Amino acid sequence: MRPPILNPLFAGLRVPGVGPKFLKLFERLFGREDPRFVDALFHLPHSAIDRRERPKLSEVKPDTIVTIEVHIDKHKPAPPRGRAPHRVSAHDETNDIEFVFFGMPRERIEKMLPVGEKRFVSGKAVLYDGRLQMTHPDRVTDEAGLEKIAEVEPVYPLTQGLSNAMVRRACAAALERAAELPEWIDTAFLKSKNYERFRASLAHLHKPDEPADVEALSPFRSRLAYDELLAHQLALALVRSDMKRDPGRAHLAEGRIQAKIEAALPFSLTNSQRLAVEEIKRDLSSDERMLRLLQGDVGSGKTLVALLAAAHVIESGKQAVIMAPTEVLARQHYQRIAPLAASAGIRVEILTGRERGASREAMLADLAAGAVQLLVGTHAVFQDDVIFHDLALAVVDEQHRFGVHQRLALAEKGEATDVLVMTATPIPRTLVLTYFGDMDVSELREKPAGRQPIETVAVALDRLQEVVDAVHRAVDSGARAYWICPLVEESEEVDFAAAEARFAHLQEIFGTRVGLVHGKMKAADKDDAMARFASGETPVLVATTVVEVGVDVPEATIMVIEHAERFGLAQLHQLRGRVGRGSGKSTCLLLYRAPLGETAKRRIETMRATEDGFRIAEEDLALRGEGEILGTRQSGMPGFKLADASVHRDLLEVARKDAALIVAQDPQLKGARGEALRVLLHLFEREDAVRLLDAG
Ligand code: ADP
Ligand code: MG
Repeated sequence: MRPPILNPLFAGLRVPGVGPKFLKLFERLFGREDPRFVDALFHLPHSAIDRRERPKLSEVKPDTIVTIEVHIDKHKPAPPRGRAPHRVSAHDETNDIEFVFFGMPRERIEKMLPVGEKRFVSGKAVLYDGRLQMTHPDRVTDEAGLEKIAEVEPVYPLTQGLSNAMVRRACAAALERAAELPEWIDTAFLKSKNYERFRASLAHLHKPDEPADVEALSPFRSRLAYDELLAHQLALALVRSDMKRDPGRAHLAEGRIQAKIEAALPFSLTNSQRLAVEEIKRDLSSDERMLRLLQGDVGSGKTLVALLAAAHVIESGKQAVIMAPTEVLARQHYQRIAPLAASAGIRVEILTGRERGASREAMLADLAAGAVQLLVGTHAVFQDDVIFHDLALAVVDEQHRFGVHQRLALAEKGEATDVLVMTATPIPRTLVLTYFGDMDVSELREKPAGRQPIETVAVALDRLQEVVDAVHRAVDSGARAYWICPLVEESEEVDFAAAEARFAHLQEIFGTRVGLVHGKMKAADKDDAMARFASGETPVLVATTVVEVGVDVPEATIMVIEHAERFGLAQLHQLRGRVGRGSGKSTCLLLYRAPLGETAKRRIETMRATEDGFRIAEEDLALRGEGEILGTRQSGMPGFKLADASVHRDLLEVARKDAALIVAQDPQLKGARGEALRVLLHLFEREDAVRLLDAG
């Protein structure tokens, strides 16, 4: 149950003076379908404009934002045709200035700046031919409205169609609904950092007194970042302590099934794989519960490690489940695992949202009876009617989804279930704790033998035709190529339009030999498109990145990434990892629009210099801070709204220690601070962890 004090914040967002059409846009801004006040509350400004500066015209510093008091002299309206602007001249006792408007109705401008009157105008003044000019002032008002404009104005991240004023109004409405909450931060720490209370801190961000208030390192921002980090770390610590509370079970096996699987492989394990399997088997055999992270670059062979881990518990007479984040990936895991399982005599089944009806019922009955030893699936495996006979191991392929929910729900399906979390995103060790909490870590650092280096080439977009020709020649001689179209806008529609336009263009050249796959397609159609690409029927596949990138088609040797400059390093690396998986020589073509910005240039250079995902991750951290590492579009940390590990990293460590201490001292969160911490967990929607407490 959510503490009632939070209810006003979790109500559906309504903004005074903002109609339903614009409310739709908040869905896009916050990235969720049912925007609530709390989403606006945590939508923080990235900067602030100081409009308090009120110089005389002679004192105006060009290119700064100022508020000036002027007398309006004359209008020179735009001529009826042509592109000339409407110009307004004005003066004060020290100098003249001209206001310039393009494409705005004459009447509106004349009403806004009436000749002979005094107006306060705010905006950026520039020097043009030695004269002061302001194009499209931000604000114009008379004396009465002055107080409203001469202030510090927060500037928010926006989405197309929403103005800063509208977003600001939404945030102000949210702030009004926010009650002061009980203090969950340790008093001594709060004092030492000079933090203010939760609500007061938010007020400083949405209604700043100084531009510095909204900076990432301001005490107000830092406090909120800490709140969020603490909520996350506390949830992780509670999960961990809950898992460690029940004694684990020792699963003993001699390795007979593993040997059968290995015998069926056309290759031998890499040293990293062997080591990871050993580490996992040691955990499984011990009577402590396993909570281990398997990190491995794309193509490093994690699926096989997961299967061998499953083989261990299956040999000891129990069951295992492997969960993938999407339907496509679940099917791919299943297809890869099924033949190996067959040669080892293991029964494996798949369960996604698509399995229905009688065959699903029959399969679930076999699962409950223990006849199905390994289940591969999507989150459909959480459904209530999915009952295991004896689930000993849950493997969660997280792919950027850092929820504790999944781990919890899966672990609840069995008795003292061991958990292996896999991630394909190399994360610098320093950051592993942020996302995953205290876990043991295995890393797959080598690539399987026989992989050839991928040739990476950067090509300007104006040479598109040459690229198309080259792909054409390669495809004619049997190659398979991915063609990735980027996420352009916040708008998915636009992205699909871009991919569809490229698809149509390539169809003219390749005819029926090109396919298309994007996130808005039905699961069955996606599978279909993937299958046709994998079989070679459509050797060219146009895709958006919305499609999960874990797909594995070893025959694919060409990766074209259009507008490579728009991707983060990690994303580029992930995409490139789709090729170079088979024995053929692979090429990655980074198509970019010139001229390249400094960061984009360095990213592309890094891509050309190395294929080592861990090195790329470190480089990315140095280059950009954290958001890019994980391939998110916004800066900051995925799954986090307020904290940014590139600036709040020191807080992370404090939050982690604090969380550990809390769990040690008040594991049920029963004391006064415990009550406040429960509010915190709900506020940041980590309430699964609270449920865990109350369950026992
Ligand atoms: P990841 O999930 O880590 O991205 P996968 O498990 O998808 O990697 O493996 C990528 C490809 O490499 C698969 O086709 C798999 O069969 C193959 N593979 C896995 N391990 C080895 C190995 N030791 N030697 C050669 N190929 C391997
Ligand atoms: Mg995989």
